[in-house]
Amino acid sequence: MDFQLSDEQRLTQQMIHDFVENEVKPLAAHTDRTHEFPWNSIRKMGPLGLLGLNIPEEWAGAGADHVSAAILIEELGRGCGSTALTVAAHLGLACAPLALFGNDALKERYLKPMARGEMLGALSLTEPGTGSDLRAIRTAARREGDAWVINGGKMWMTNASVAGVMILLARTGEGGSGALSHILVPADTPGIEIAPAERKMGLHGCKTHAVSFDNVRVPLDHVVGEEGRGLQQTLTVLDGGRIGIAALSLGLAQAAFEESIKYSHERQTFGVPIAQHQAIQFKIADMATQIHAARLMVYQAAWLRDQGQPITQAAAQAKLFATEMAEKVCFEAIQIHGGYGYSAEFPVERIYRDNRLMLIGEGTSEINRMVIARNVLGVR
Ligand SMILES: Cc1cc2nc3c(=O)[nH]c(=O)nc-3n(C[C@H](O)[C@H](O)[C@H](O)COP(=O)(O)OP(=O)(O)OC[C@H]3O[C@@H](n4cnc5c(N)ncnc54)[C@H](O)[C@@H]3O)c2cc1C
Repeated sequence: MDFQLSDEQRLTQQMIHDFVENEVKPLAAHTDRTHEFPWNSIRKMGPLGLLGLNIPEEWAGAGADHVSAAILIEELGRGCGSTALTVAAHLGLACAPLALFGNDALKERYLKPMARGEMLGALSLTEPGTGSDLRAIRTAARREGDAWVINGGKMWMTNASVAGVMILLARTGEGGSGALSHILVPADTPGIEIAPAERKMGLHGCKTHAVSFDNVRVPLDHVVGEEGRGLQQTLTVLDGGRIGIAALSLGLAQAAFEESIKYSHERQTFGVPIAQHQAIQFKIADMATQIHAARLMVYQAAWLRDQGQPITQAAAQAKLFATEMAEKVCFEAIQIHGGYGYSAEFPVERIYRDNRLMLIGEGTSEINRMVIARNVLGVR
């Protein structure tokens, strides 16, 4: 058993850490306040290989492993939740189905520019009427000559307004889960209408939209993977995506923790820094321990993926634990800051809001508990 990162992983970590310190973290408060999309830092990530970090070199990615990809999202989360979610949705949700299931022609045409960071991607499962229950998806793609004609409405599509490519889970036949497929839709296809960005509690720089499709035509060869296997493919993609969301919460918790350490040395009450009060020390001790446990779970799940081992349970556990851990850590970080923790002038207020989504997206805590229980109990 080896708990050390490899030399290569450590170098990647250091490079990303420096990038985040210089380019991402300084803009986080501005991004949150103005709701501006963080194009400045996103554009700089392409040439560094970060927007295709764990995509094989053959498809213009950096060819790094999944542990490195988890570190990327963790470090970005440490700097700015909005930027981290944008990249997690692009890399973990939109590039992933193409890399895992796409044919060479789709990879050549779409995955390569996505991995180079020339265009962002979005994956759209959720609809106004359904999120957790993907079998209830109604957006339909019907064959007409040499094209799919898509009609329907999607909800909560992260990156919709900044993406060049949308991958939809759509109904391509009659019946249950066997009738769902992934269809790739170039974002400039006529008939797509993107609603204004949702007004959200946090993650203000990350753009999430309702999108409608009115007779949108794409070529028949734009099915990603196998027709009728969309649900199974989605579950595989979400296994990897959940490690990304877990890593994002880990980074947010780490940031809140670092702010808390700094503040507890600076703030004085009753003649001493609050770091001298046992009540504060115990909070810091619990935060350190919970973050450490989550990091082990996140890295192990990513490592299992690198070994080609099953990750469904490990990914669900890492996501469940890390996202709920970050909720507690951010709660205590605000408590340590007292009244200033409730002020938008201090980063912990933003970090707390940004983490809340992580317990909902890519499988709610309840759905992940169901996934874990079914694996443990062997029931369906
Ligand atoms: C900011 C943001 C970004 C998002 N980005 C994307 C994106 O890029 N692509 C995308 O496709 N989606 C995206 N989503 C949607 C997200 O994945 C869904 O919101 C999530 O999957 C939950 O679905 P829902 O909101 O429909 O809740 P529901 O499925 O309606 O669930 C409501 C509640 O019931 C619980 N519940 C549901 N079923 C069960 C059950 N069987 N047993 C016990 N409890 C249950 C849930 O846990 C939840 O508490 C995003 C959402 C947000 C808020």
